Amino acid sequence: NTPLHELDPDVAAAVDAELHRQQSTLEMIASENFAPVAVMEAQGSVLTNKYAEGYPGRRYYGGCEHVDVVEQIAIDRVKALFGAEHANVQPHSGAQANAAAMFALLKPGDTIMGLNLAHGGHLTHGMKINFSGKLYNVVAYHVDDTTGQVDMAEVEKLAKEHKPKLIVAGWSAYPRQLDFAAFRRVADEVGAYLMVDMAHFAGLVAAGLHPNPVPHAHVVTTTTHKTLGGPRGGVILSTAELAKKINSAVFPGQQGGPLEHVIAAKAVSFKVAASEEFKERQQRTLDGARILAERLVKADVAEHGVSVLSGGTDVHLVLVDLRNSELDGRQAEDRLHEVGITVNRNAIPNDPRPPMVTSGLRIGTPALATRGFQAEDFTEVADIIAEALKPAYDADALKARVSALAAAHPLYPGL
Ligand code: PLP
Repeated sequence: NTPLHELDPDVAAAVDAELHRQQSTLEMIASENFAPVAVMEAQGSVLTNKYAEGYPGRRYYGGCEHVDVVEQIAIDRVKALFGAEHANVQPHSGAQANAAAMFALLKPGDTIMGLNLAHGGHLTHGMKINFSGKLYNVVAYHVDDTTGQVDMAEVEKLAKEHKPKLIVAGWSAYPRQLDFAAFRRVADEVGAYLMVDMAHFAGLVAAGLHPNPVPHAHVVTTTTHKTLGGPRGGVILSTAELAKKINSAVFPGQQGGPLEHVIAAKAVSFKVAASEEFKERQQRTLDGARILAERLVKADVAEHGVSVLSGGTDVHLVLVDLRNSELDGRQAEDRLHEVGITVNRNAIPNDPRPPMVTSGLRIGTPALATRGFQAEDFTEVADIIAEALKPAYDADALKARVSALAAAHPLYPGL
């Protein structure tokens, strides 16, 4: 039972350095969050040792009596959280959840529709060299040039023309809410399944601060580590009618043994997500994003060619539009990194710059909200970002302001 620091100082040093990075900088990657210590404790538990192929009560291994309890708690909690008839908590990640859901509903060669990657979709929604683009015939829909919002008229037109078997509604980089009822209407018109990938906004849904896709969709997939704030992993929710198909697509269709330690951590995070504290945190997440968008559209920022896609946000992220700025996505990401703010550059619709450079930044507030940031802290963060994106910026002064915010909101004290 030698501790990590003694057994493997090299790995321990890298872990310590990463903890220090998380504590001393401001994490604004929209898909990231800070898991509670109890979640990490469950994930670091002896459950990592257990094989449990199958499902609670129907396993292919002995000794599953305790992991059965854990997995059933996770299933019951996530069903209650989102009002779903069925839940599978075994997918190792969001991509695995999407793959399994598609395996359950489709045959290779079937047609699917998803939001174009450069318009905010995810790789698994039909990108050419992803499994989804290789196995299925993909028809992508887009956001409207002027509104920056998904063009439902195009969705309907394409669906009628191509008769997809599955329509995917969901996104990785989109600042607005989707109209799930409208998506379902289109799906019903052409006899398609509707799958909503709520990976990004699941935490907002759990808190009741974003429409819930579950009543509208045949299948809903999610990750558990973004706004939901749990361990890295995936979940599939579905109607009772599709339960068998979904389960057998996950195991034995796609995965072997489930990660019961991660499932335990998911269960803990679902408990947290049902709390009042969580709801209050999601409200601060939304408020923070709104404050960020408001301050980045001000005249002193706009005069440098910086703007915000769709003019604002309804969710936990803002998409900064740098198409008219001398600064490209990569340079902007590097500048914020230099002052201690971590974001990612992101292709935006009709991006004139190549995918490795881009003309966009995706900036999210979930991790800082988890850290306890209040409206006035988000105002200060927004002003630091605005200053850093101007041609003349004082890196040392901005770094000092970032350090002050980090110090005022300690992360994982005592770790
Ligand atoms: N779906 C969406 C909408 C995502 O944004 C992501 C991750 O960024 C995924 C699925 C994939 O999740 P994972 O990285 O856990 O495979």
